[in-house]
Amino acid sequence: MKILQNPDFLIDDDINQSNIKSLSGMIESGKLAHAFLFYGNNIEPLFKIALEFAASINCKDNGCGECLICKNTLKGVYPNVMIVEPEGNIMRIEEIIEVQKFMGLTSYNPGKKICIIKESELMNQEAANRLLKTLEDPPDDNSVFVLLTEDISAMLPTVTSRCLTYGWNLRFEENKPDKNDFGIIDKYLNEGIKNILVNAAEGDSEGDSTIISLNLTLKILGVLKRMEAAFKADMEKELSQIRSSDFDKSYINKYINILKSKYKRKAGKFHSLAMSRIFDIISAWLEDIIAVGYGAQQEGLNYKENFSFIRKNIKNVKIEKIFKLVKLIEENRIYLNYSINSELALDNIFLQFQDIYE
Ligand SMILES: [Zn+2]
Repeated sequence: MKILQNPDFLIDDDINQSNIKSLSGMIESGKLAHAFLFYGNNIEPLFKIALEFAASINCKDNGCGECLICKNTLKGVYPNVMIVEPEGNIMRIEEIIEVQKFMGLTSYNPGKKICIIKESELMNQEAANRLLKTLEDPPDDNSVFVLLTEDISAMLPTVTSRCLTYGWNLRFEENKPDKNDFGIIDKYLNEGIKNILVNAAEGDSEGDSTIISLNLTLKILGVLKRMEAAFKADMEKELSQIRSSDFDKSYINKYINILKSKYKRKAGKFHSLAMSRIFDIISAWLEDIIAVGYGAQQEGLNYKENFSFIRKNIKNVKIEKIFKLVKLIEENRIYLNYSINSELALDNIFLQFQDIYE
């Protein structure tokens, strides 16, 4: 068992080591349970562990990492391994019916039939009940289920209790583009807001403030686009790996569709997250301006470092206008999932900053 031994995305601690020991032991003895549940703080490394586990189960050398079974399982294209993930924000019964069909089929390839279910907490009740039946009464001894979740508290206890459960301590990925670039968005946003506020406060011609607002929107959208392009590049890389594999065309097409919907979901989630963070920062600024307006001291602020800036630069604001702006932001949160609307909303919010002074 080589590939499961020391994955670099795991923290080297007792919990992970004992998980690996337990799983390796089962693989070597050939006495596998039917259902496993892996949980941890990041779904992608959890998925990697699941693939390494699946490869180790079917590889003749218990996970050499070199044979065709290992290589293709790790790529997610071994025909004995089915990967399931929710189409939208929910996993429906139709997807579980597909799982049951797959697990009921006779396998023409060596090894067990393994079904990996990502984000399994997103199963709705109906889907979970259906899966439960299969977990209680698997189609044959060759079936192995590996459920993955970032949030074990959201899982149905009836499902959890059917699985051997393993919690993993995962490293956060340092070079994820979103993690780095969120910092860039924060920086642009904080600088931009200061700029707009100073400009508007100085009573500059309205034209200037408008240009500053529009530029800030463009700058932030530019960062978002770059980050989304990074997701797309990841997808293209995975797609070309799959296209160049030597599997049956129908399998390849199936996985291409799975991948595409995965990235679509990922990009959507990311966009909502980023917009939500942007709105949070703007709201925090407005709250701080209101607080200083009412005489709050530095300790009472969201951004303590902005206290002297606000006290010095933000005079003569109409508090009721700021409240109006806060309300506008809350209303716009509804549109977080629709990218065009959220961009327009952002623009609109920045433009309103010009109007907060007496
Ligand atoms: Zn192998």
